[in-house]
Amino acid sequence: MLKFIIGFVLLFIPKLAQAQTFEKKVLIPKPKENASRYFYVPFEVPENTKSITVSYEYSKATGANVLDLGVFDSTEDEKKGFRGWSGGRRSTIFISENQATNGYVAGKIPAGTWRVILGLYKVKPEGVSARISIKFNEILNLPIETDNLIYSNNPKSEIQNPKWFKGDLHTHTFHSDGWWTAEGILSNAQQNGLDFVAVTDHNTFSHHAEIDRIAPKYKDLLVLRGEEITTYGGHVNVWGLPRDAWIDFRVTPKNTSQMENILTEAKRLNVPASINHPAAFCGGCDWSYGDDWDKFASVEIWNGEWDASDEIGLKKWDALLQRGKRINIIGSSDSHTPKNPIGLPTTHIGAKHLTQKDLFNAIYAGKVFITENAQMSVGLSAGKTGIGEILRAESNKKVNFKLNTKGFPTDAKVLIISDGTIIAENPGENFALSFAKNTYLRLEIRDANGKILALTNPIYIQSSK
Ligand SMILES: [Zn+2]
Ligand SMILES: [Zn+2]
Repeated sequence: MLKFIIGFVLLFIPKLAQAQTFEKKVLIPKPKENASRYFYVPFEVPENTKSITVSYEYSKATGANVLDLGVFDSTEDEKKGFRGWSGGRRSTIFISENQATNGYVAGKIPAGTWRVILGLYKVKPEGVSARISIKFNEILNLPIETDNLIYSNNPKSEIQNPKWFKGDLHTHTFHSDGWWTAEGILSNAQQNGLDFVAVTDHNTFSHHAEIDRIAPKYKDLLVLRGEEITTYGGHVNVWGLPRDAWIDFRVTPKNTSQMENILTEAKRLNVPASINHPAAFCGGCDWSYGDDWDKFASVEIWNGEWDASDEIGLKKWDALLQRGKRINIIGSSDSHTPKNPIGLPTTHIGAKHLTQKDLFNAIYAGKVFITENAQMSVGLSAGKTGIGEILRAESNKKVNFKLNTKGFPTDAKVLIISDGTIIAENPGENFALSFAKNTYLRLEIRDANGKILALTNPIYIQSSK
């Protein structure tokens, strides 16, 4: 009788997709020093599959093991076959033709060999065993977030003179490990008086569709599609990506030639690449790819609330300036949650117009300063030469500088720094300095407790006899 019922059911619903489960247990050894930090688990996807659910489990060993999760489909070109990344945020993800978990992209489910990619963030010396479970055609109800609206970057009308635009270049949504919606980020950026904001989820592009859908509502806000390329040896932001463009993050810590590939890819896509939080304390967040910071468009010296790791990054940057390197800095909130508002700190960019192209050119040119919030501002110049520019000065002859500051507490200290030392403190609106050699001059403003309130890129001094 039972047999008959099953036969009956199968007979009468032959057109409905059958749920199938595939399970695999893997033992992942601790990766050797300088070896790849990614482990792949292939699985076969049958013809006519409509959806895939991937779950994984492993012994966390109170934090000694941390495995990240991503998926490639069967497309041979990995660039086209990358279906998303959720880091360590989710233990189950879902991809179908029309819907996908945040961090993943919906679309056709091609048959063939797909791969789960596990990122080996932390693995105990004896290795870690993981269980991957894959279900086909499971019926789930997820909110639909994709659409085909065309992105508008809303450039402002032409202005004759360069203007300082305020913004935030580093934020995270639910598409990676953030607790913001894209809408939340854009509306908070506008509320805080910003002109531009970049959404830079970790290792994925699944947020592009959502920000493209929302951005046109924020007419005065330039919204940049970004990716935080998150390796286990440092993080890089790219801004202004074409819709659905993805930069491969699989770089082994300390492997500078693999990191070069990221620069090449950024160049190909015509987007600036910027080193993030080079001295951050979280394991694998600090920069392990050498001192050639000047190969990047900029370095994020101020990440979120100013702290000891920013102070270390600042020292390192100044040491590189002393070696004659020209390295542009930016700052950003790296906000993951509404508890950390967008624009703390604020990056000010001196550009002709509020367009992606003009902002990027200004970043490459170092026409940037950073303040704790959008109400503060700084102006520093010598004649027509401003922040980021080269000042040609006769050796040992006085040069007149002009300084304006706005929005700082009265007991804040203004420090003028050159060649690693403070050469003037609270110099006033007009001051004069002379230089014996080629050097740089930059400004810091600190509060009564020494905490940074403002930081500028240098004016580079070219001294002549
Ligand atoms: Zn980061
Ligand atoms: Zn980040």
